[in-house]
Amino acid sequence: METVNILGVHVNKYTMNEAVSKAEEFLETDGLSMIFTPNSEIILYASNNQEFTDALNSADMVIPDGIGVVYGAKILRNPIKERVAGYDLVCNLLPKMAEKKQSVFLLGAKPGVAETAAQKLKEKYPGLVIAGTHDGYFKEDEPVIKEINEASPDFLMVCLGFPKQENWIYNNREKLNARLAIGAGGCLDVFAGTVQRAPDFYCRHGIEWLYRLIKQPSRFVRMLALPKFGLKVLFEGRKYQNK
Ligand code: UDP
Repeated sequence: METVNILGVHVNKYTMNEAVSKAEEFLETDGLSMIFTPNSEIILYASNNQEFTDALNSADMVIPDGIGVVYGAKILRNPIKERVAGYDLVCNLLPKMAEKKQSVFLLGAKPGVAETAAQKLKEKYPGLVIAGTHDGYFKEDEPVIKEINEASPDFLMVCLGFPKQENWIYNNREKLNARLAIGAGGCLDVFAGTVQRAPDFYCRHGIEWLYRLIKQPSRFVRMLALPKFGLKVLFEGRKYQNK
């Protein structure tokens, strides 16, 4: 499996089509597979947190969610074929799951959002089974895990924001009765329509970050991670190559 080591995180070099096929395989395989979807902010955070890096690297598939990761790989002269955003991967996977009548459990976001997302997904992909929903502001894990396990979904979408979602999946991986779990950030907000995804133009030109900055200027401080990530890859990226 071809990967590129970016600041210690082993990112798979799949195209979107390859990533979707792999995810379909995971859905047919017993036991839990994990997909993480780091962008440059997440990899920068991981580069200062070994435990989190280990959690990311334990995944069965790590996809380059942001354009910064694609450029990072280019700087390291180990290019990734294309950006594979978690949201796009899920959008490509759900219709295939609907054809097979597979089920999805939606975990995360503010109360009510996962239910609205479920409603919209059912309309968009008839055949898709919604195994259950739960908001992302719970205090104890055990009742939520019990609910998921009783629903026994094929696919578990965990949308708690980073690093919570990755840690949650990683720490509970032995207990979860699902075939595939993904850490999918703000996906439920987009499915529910509470947050708009950037128009195609921005995504195609690698400036989705600009759209998000215009829409949510409060993200400015978080977005400083992008240039910091670029500089760290440029000046320290080689140091990580043997890790
Ligand atoms: N969230 C959650 N529980 C928490 C913190 C956040 O369910 O304790 C949700 C939040 O409501 C939002 C998503 O996690 O729906 C994070 O969205 P964001 O766009 O910040 O994702 P990121 O960019 O971190 O992947």
